[in-house]
Amino acid sequence: MAVPKQGHTRAKVGKSRMHKYIEPVRLNVCPKCKKPVLSHTVCLNCGFYKGKEVINVLAKLTKKDQKVREKEIKQAEKPDKST
Ligand SMILES: [Zn+2]
Repeated sequence: MAVPKQGHTRAKVGKSRMHKYIEPVRLNVCPKCKKPVLSHTVCLNCGFYKGKEVINVLAKLTKKDQKVREKEIKQAEKPDKST
């Protein structure tokens, strides 16, 4: 088996690894509810994508939770209209 003649210095190892790192996930902001969302993905908080409702988020919740979620979404929309 081939054996390396000389070992790499720490600097050489560091240089080759300087481009190997994990980048933080880049998130967009949902235009409807202002929550962070992955790009090209349906917002799981309000169920909207490209201005259309794709998932009915409220359907699976209990009535109490539905009211809370509706309030949250409405509150997130209000400041948008004023600006
Ligand atoms: Zn949303």
